[in-house]
Amino acid sequence: MHHDVIVLGAGLAGLAAARDLAAEGADVLVVEARDRVGGRVEQTALPDGRLVQLGGEVVGRAHTAYLGLVAELGLGLTPSYVAEPGVLARATPEGVSAGDPPHWFEPGDDACHRRVSRTFADLARAVDPDDPWSHPRARALDQISVAGWLRAEGASAGVVRLWEIGQLGLASGSYERTSLLSALRKHAAVPGGDPAATDGGPGPVEPVEHVEHVEHYDYEDWEGLRVAEGSATVALRMADELGGRVRTGAPVEAVGIRPGACSVRLSGGETLTAAAVVSALPVGPLRSVALTGVSDGRLASLHRQRQAVTAKFVAAYDAPFWRADGRNGLSECEGVLGSTWPQNEGVLSCLVPPERYGVLLGIPEGRRERELLAEIARLYGDEAHRPLQCWSRMWGTDPWTQGYVTQWTPGDVMAVGPLHGTHEPPFYVCGSDQWVAGYMEGAVRTGRAAAKEALRRG
Ligand SMILES: Cc1cc2nc3c(=O)[nH]c(=O)nc-3n(C[C@H](O)[C@H](O)[C@H](O)COP(=O)(O)OP(=O)(O)OC[C@H]3O[C@@H](n4cnc5c(N)ncnc54)[C@H](O)[C@@H]3O)c2cc1C
Repeated sequence: MHHDVIVLGAGLAGLAAARDLAAEGADVLVVEARDRVGGRVEQTALPDGRLVQLGGEVVGRAHTAYLGLVAELGLGLTPSYVAEPGVLARATPEGVSAGDPPHWFEPGDDACHRRVSRTFADLARAVDPDDPWSHPRARALDQISVAGWLRAEGASAGVVRLWEIGQLGLASGSYERTSLLSALRKHAAVPGGDPAATDGGPGPVEPVEHVEHVEHYDYEDWEGLRVAEGSATVALRMADELGGRVRTGAPVEAVGIRPGACSVRLSGGETLTAAAVVSALPVGPLRSVALTGVSDGRLASLHRQRQAVTAKFVAAYDAPFWRADGRNGLSECEGVLGSTWPQNEGVLSCLVPPERYGVLLGIPEGRRERELLAEIARLYGDEAHRPLQCWSRMWGTDPWTQGYVTQWTPGDVMAVGPLHGTHEPPFYVCGSDQWVAGYMEGAVRTGRAAAKEALRRG
């Protein structure tokens, strides 16, 4: 069967690309390995009707491509956990504390934290998120880790720990193994949390709660909203629109790129042909696809990318019991869990960061739930032991994901190079890994951009 375009993968990126291509009259087919669409967005429902997100969940006001798509699909937005009353908790082996400052902070740590946050934001202002390679010190900034840079700036051990526990919370990989250039690039892509960007330049920083996030990861920009009908509904709506143009249960094994005559071989041997191919596969699974007809540089760049691996644990309760103690359900932790946050009334989401994924795998399966609930109980009390239902979603070892979000260890930004997120017609690339920081925004943004470029090229 010959098509104008074959899209590989029915995650948000592939579906968004296919939807735009179809809207312009292209004959498009999406081939998807799993028996469902959505990829890293997946949802289930409790018997009482509450939806439970097992993958991507929250977005921010800076995620303009995603928000635009949600509006086009006729879906609604609602505030995420940011609207939850109460304060954030932090758990480390030696203690649990609520609100700021963290329990390990010593005199001078707060001022030190403000100083390095300001320096970080200043540095980021000189990085072009679309072309970080053009920064005059790009190579040096890429070689050093964020934690190494913090120490070089004179940050105290307590401040490094605060930045690090934030990374555990996000589950996107330790700052000891994160390129400074990649972190600056991410910040530059969404600089709204940088006070200097809104107050007209460097100056005294007003004291604000959770200042660490305001300065280098603004919750409202990145995580303040969620789709009222469930984030996985975004994928389901697009798939409904595409109808028979999405083929599930069709893993791609080989792709041959040739102008006017590309081929896509599915497991089982069937071969499809098309004038162009849009790859919307995560970088891990893409490495297993035999891809020919593209330049060696392109292959090397794509194969050099990596993802942080994570698991998501979700526990559903009758009610948000964490409120009783003035907690908002949001936490940053140094346990097997790196974070918790309320995703829906009484439903608590948790992430297991890459540094703890091996530990999680080591827990005998029959004990896993009990041990993770004990960590939640340490934060919010014994009620945590009595969930209605729990889910452990092991995304890091799922063959069709092999990760969570894009990760950049020192040296990776330069090694992947300026081919990142670009196309080699008739081969087009999209997916959250092809944006600076992953996220559902990255998927939608790059998916729509790939469709636009393919249409422009005819
Ligand atoms: C636990 C978790 C929590 C997250 N939380 C958030 C969040 O709160 N906010 C946010 O913005 N982002 C979040 N993300 C990230 C976000 O979900 C992803 O970045 C985004 O959904 C990725 O979309 P994608 O289309 O690029 O890739 P994917 O969704 O991974 O889609 C790729 C598709 O390709 C398919 N595929 C793979 N190999 C093959 C093959 N050989 N042949 C055919 N098909 C194949 C896969 O099955 C999949 O359907 C989270 C991710 C996870 C895992």
